[in-house]
Order: sequence, then structure tokens, then C-alpha cells
Amino acid sequence: MAEAPAIESFGTIKFTLNNGTHMPAVGLGTYRVRQETDIMNAVDWALDAGYRMFDTAAVYGNECHLGAALRTFLPKYGLDRDDIFVTTKLSPSEHGDKEITEKAYLKSLKNLGLDYVDLYLIHFPGTARLRSDDGRNKVLRESTWSSLEEIYDEGRVNAIGVSNFTVRHLSELLLTHHSVIPAVNQVEWHPYYHQDELLKYCKEKEIVVQGYCPFGGASAANKTLLEDPVVKKIAKKLNVTCAQVCLVWALQKDVAVIPKSSNAARIKENISLKFRIPEEDMKALDALGEKNIKYAWDPSIVT
Ligand code: NDP
Repeated sequence: MAEAPAIESFGTIKFTLNNGTHMPAVGLGTYRVRQETDIMNAVDWALDAGYRMFDTAAVYGNECHLGAALRTFLPKYGLDRDDIFVTTKLSPSEHGDKEITEKAYLKSLKNLGLDYVDLYLIHFPGTARLRSDDGRNKVLRESTWSSLEEIYDEGRVNAIGVSNFTVRHLSELLLTHHSVIPAVNQVEWHPYYHQDELLKYCKEKEIVVQGYCPFGGASAANKTLLEDPVVKKIAKKLNVTCAQVCLVWALQKDVAVIPKSSNAARIKENISLKFRIPEEDMKALDALGEKNIKYAWDPSIVT
């Protein structure tokens, strides 16, 4: 009898970005992990578990701790800088011309102790301290993108992208005279809030969607999604955890994920993803989108 083909774990898969760069499908989120010891432990456990991607942002205030942790632990696992993928993001207070964005990028590099990052994202389409309906938001983010393109063209970053961009924000960006299409759009994505139209648009434009808050904003102590009866039932049937169901549900749609955990066992659990969700269960999870519960900030109101 022929053996069934082995299922590859999503934890080892890489997505190819539109410029040929390879990005791990699963990375470690670091939002709200501020203490140096917490980051040190998380990075140690994550590298041990097989994580090769780390997601931070200027506003998380932890770039320097992440950099220190990577310098400390890469040698322990026989890894070099090129073996890992680091993402950081330009703060909403740093939208603007080349001088402002260049300064922001250099500051992030200095904090991280790196001479390039793999992916640099515009964190949010709106500018800090401007009203959402202020027309200057659009002008400023266009200017920011042009500046990021320059950094990219100079070969100082492997890929550039955006975060929290809606179809409108993306299509406006692509309509303007820019030469680089964002490689990634990092957005809120979980069974209670999946933006199917945005995913379709991004796939057409070869923009990889990377989902944040994969557990439905559990970092804000909201466990509703991880206790949803539909998710629980599927987890029980497949003999996996609810968290793993949420991650594989996203990955099966080609949405990359960046779960955050500061706990050794959960860090390992979140990358141990050697299973597939059957079509009927994918549909049941999709149907949870009707709840339309959004946990993070809302970019749709930004002009
Ligand atoms: P997540 O959906 O990843 O949830 C994290 C929470 O879930 C923590 O409380 C964690 O607790 C808990 N958790 C982790 N693993 C498990 C598990 N296996 N079982 C049960 N609970 C678990 O939320 P985040 O908001 O952190 O999103 C992920 C990442 O996305 C962020 O860390 C950040 O890097 C990025 N992000 C980007 C945003 C953007 O605007 N671009 C906005 C928000 C997030 P514990 O640590 O104790 O395990």
C-alpha cells in the first residue's frame, strides 16, 4: 500500500515575496513584551523551537532588547544574521519626507544593532496627531512610501511594505507614480475578523498578507476566540489546540502569522503546525467572520 505523503509543518514554510525575498510563514510577535528578560527568554525559546522571523516596531519600545537577544542567542543555535528575518515598522509619528523617514530607519537599525532589516513597514496609514479625516494623511504616507523606496533602491533594506492598509489605501498608493509595490501588508486577521476582499486584492497584486492578533487580541486579555465553541470543536476533532487551529486556518489561506507569546510551551505550540484543516472546518471557521469583531485600531477611517 502506498504511504500517504508526509505533511510539511507550516512552521518551516517560507513565503516568497514579490521581490524574491523569502519570509518565514510563522514569526514571533513582540507587542507588549517590554522587559529585557522577557525578550531574552522569548527569543531563546523561539530560536530553539525553530522560529526564524521576529516582528517588532519602533513604537513597541523593545527593538534594542530584541537586537541584544538576537546577538546573544544566534551563536547558541549556530545561526547567522542571514538565517533570520527581522521586521520593524516606521512609527505613525514618523511619516514624512526623506529626512524624517531616513532618521526613523537609522534609529531602528541602531536600536536593533543591525545594518539592515529584512522588512520595513509603514505601521499605519495615518499620521500621529492628525485627525483621521485630515487630507494630509494621504500626502504624508505617499511621501513616506517614496522615501522607503529610496532606501530600498539603495539596497539598505531587503523588502518594504505596509501595515493596516485597506484596499483603498493600497490602490491609491499603486495608482501614484511609485516604482515599488509593497511586499507585505500586515493587518488584523483572525476568524472573527478576516478581510477577504483585501486578501483577494493583495493576491492579485502579489502582496503577501501577514496577519496580526491571530488569537483575536488575546494580548488584551480577551480570550473569546480561543474559547469559541466552533474553534474548540475543530481543535478537539483534530487533536490540536484552539491557538493552533487559528494559525493553520490563516496559513491555509496563504496568510502569514506572527503570534506573540512569552511562554516557552506556547511559543513551541504556535510553531508546531504539522496538520491541515479539512475544507468543511475551514468553512465553519470562515463563518465566524459574521461576528465581525475587531480588536485592534481601525485604519478604515483614515483618509
Ligand atoms: P496575539 O493574537 O498573538 O495574542 C497574544 C496573546 O495570546 C498573549 O496574551 C499570549 O499570552 C496569548 N497566547 C499566545 N500563544 C497562546 C496559545 N498557544 N494559547 C493560548 N494563549 C496564547 O496578539 P498580538 O496583539 O500580540 O499580535 C501578534 C503580533 O502581531 C504582535 O505581538 C505584534 O508583533 C503584531 N501586531 C501588529 C500590529 C500592527 O498594527 N501592525 C498590531 C498588533 C499586533 P502568553 O504570552 O502568556 O502566551
